[in-house]
Amino acid sequence: MRNISPEEYNRHIKRILISEKEIADAVEKAGLYIDSLYDGSPILLVSILKGSFVFLADLCRSVSVPCEIGFMAAKSYYESTSSSGIVNITMDLKQDISGYNVVIVEDIVDTGRTLKDVVKLLSARNPRSLKVVTLLDKPDRRVVDFEADHSLFVIPDLFVVGYGLDYGELYRGLPYIAEYTEFPDL
Ligand code: 5GP
Repeated sequence: MRNISPEEYNRHIKRILISEKEIADAVEKAGLYIDSLYDGSPILLVSILKGSFVFLADLCRSVSVPCEIGFMAAKSYYESTSSSGIVNITMDLKQDISGYNVVIVEDIVDTGRTLKDVVKLLSARNPRSLKVVTLLDKPDRRVVDFEADHSLFVIPDLFVVGYGLDYGELYRGLPYIAEYTEFPDL
C-alpha cells in the first residue's frame, strides 16, 4: 500500500466537478430511463470493474424492474494508434446471458475501446437486448466509434476521480467527482 499523508492526498483534488446532489439526481433519472425501456421485464446489470462499483450500487437501487447483478473486469491492449483491439477479460461474468436484457454499467467512456470490445463480446452471447449506461462520457477523447445509450454526465478532457474512479487505486471512496491534478500548487 502506498504511503501518503492526508494532506498530500487532499492536495491532488483540484476542484469538485460534480457534487453528490448532482450525482444523486442523475442516478434517479438513469433509473427511470432503464425502467422505461423494459416495461417490468427483468434485467441484468453488468458492472465493469472496478470503477463502476459505486455507480452500480446506487443505480441498482434506483431501478424498479426486477434486476440481477453481474460483474466483469476487462483490460484492453492496443498497438499504439490501432483502433481494433483485443479485450482481455480478467474476470468474466458468471451468468449465461442468453435471453437476458443486459445493461452494461460503466464508469467512464474515454477512447471508447473498452466498451466497444465488451459490447462486441457480450453481443456474441445472444442476449435478448443489450444497452450501455455510463456515468461519465469524455467525447473529446474518443478514438473509436462508440456511443453509450445513456450518459449521466458529459465532461471535458480532464482526469477525474471519486465515486468509484481512482488514481493509483486511491480516491474511489470520494462521494463526489473531482478533477485530479498530478502537480498541485505548493
Ligand atoms: P477507454 O477504453 O474508453 O479508453 O477506457 C475507459 C477506462 O479508462 C475507464 O473505465 C477508466 O477505468 C479509465 N479512465 C478513462 N478516463 C479516466 C479518468 O478521467 N479518470 C479515471 N479514474 N479513469 C479513467
